[in-house]
Amino acid sequence: SISQKKDQAPRNSINPGTSVLQNDKPVKACFVVLVRNSELDGIVSTMLQLEKTFNSKFNYPYVFLNDDDFTEEFKQSTSVLTKAQTKYGKVDSQMWGYPSHINQTYAAECRNEMATKGIPYADSESYRNMCRFQSGFFFRHPMLDEYDYYWRIEPYVDYTCDIDYDVFKYMRNNNKKYGFTIAFREFLETVPTLWQTVMNFKRDYPDVVSRWPSKKNSLEKFVTNDGNSYNGCHFWTNFEIASLELWRSNDYLKLFSYLDQQGGFFYERWGDAPVHSIAASLMLNQEDFHFFNDIGYRHTAYTHCPTEPEFRDKCSCDPNINMDLTDPMSCYPVYKAAFN
Ligand code: GDP
Ligand code: MN
Repeated sequence: SISQKKDQAPRNSINPGTSVLQNDKPVKACFVVLVRNSELDGIVSTMLQLEKTFNSKFNYPYVFLNDDDFTEEFKQSTSVLTKAQTKYGKVDSQMWGYPSHINQTYAAECRNEMATKGIPYADSESYRNMCRFQSGFFFRHPMLDEYDYYWRIEPYVDYTCDIDYDVFKYMRNNNKKYGFTIAFREFLETVPTLWQTVMNFKRDYPDVVSRWPSKKNSLEKFVTNDGNSYNGCHFWTNFEIASLELWRSNDYLKLFSYLDQQGGFFYERWGDAPVHSIAASLMLNQEDFHFFNDIGYRHTAYTHCPTEPEFRDKCSCDPNINMDLTDPMSCYPVYKAAFN
């Protein structure tokens, strides 16, 4: 049993918030997987690692979403990898594709123009649909209605550390709203007017902004150096463990529809990562964020691997390959510096 020093008050009376640390009630949470049938091998690879390191112990359900119908082969091959429930949903045309206010001729011109500059996914329509869906709709998909938290996963990524506790209970019991493993730097050419559009929203909706934390308590310094422009820093959304309530809030829905109305998902190439990150950094308090240092993760050529010796027998990743502090694309140092 845990001994308590006589001169210390019980933890719960020092910090009332810690009483919820004992809350062992189930959390309504799921994995969210937007994926194509053609990426079946990639999602199998991801799921095998996630089941091995985490989910075989906790059995959270998977919600697979697609703008197309999932094939029987896809459903069969993924459902056999887990004891947990697997659900397969389609994304309808309300959530995927051009809203009526978009000028598709102009959008095509913008894509062509962008393609001359060597910007990733510059000329892709589907990538834009994906980014808009992930920015403003996944959390409103009916299949997610019953959940309070989600963990976004992608095909072809690696999960390299054993996670022996329930990360969703960690989020709930510690009042965390947004968790990440990699903080990345955006190609600013993809979002030239995003920051100004968010500033215009703040100007036009002072009532909404009055509910947001002060500059000092928010994470604003993660996304802007001078307040006048976006520095490109964002949480890499190919991994996200977060509260669905954050995105379902009236404040975020108002912000998203304002952004959507401006057309930047199509006329530029606004990513869901900068959109989520700017919104969360302005809307949340600093203590609502959590860096999942203990979750080893690789997406494409970028890796987070915990470097502390205590992780050596939990993780299969090489601590010398860790982008946090050394890679010029990492915004982790900016994240750390954003805290008061
Ligand atoms: P990147 O990580 O930004 O390079 O983009 P990805 O190609 O990995 O796409 C992000 C996520 O969205 C992945 O989980 C993809 O499987 C998924 N995705 C991207 N485009 C589409 C699409 O057109 N349809 C579907 N169903 N999923 C997509
Ligand atoms: Mn990806």
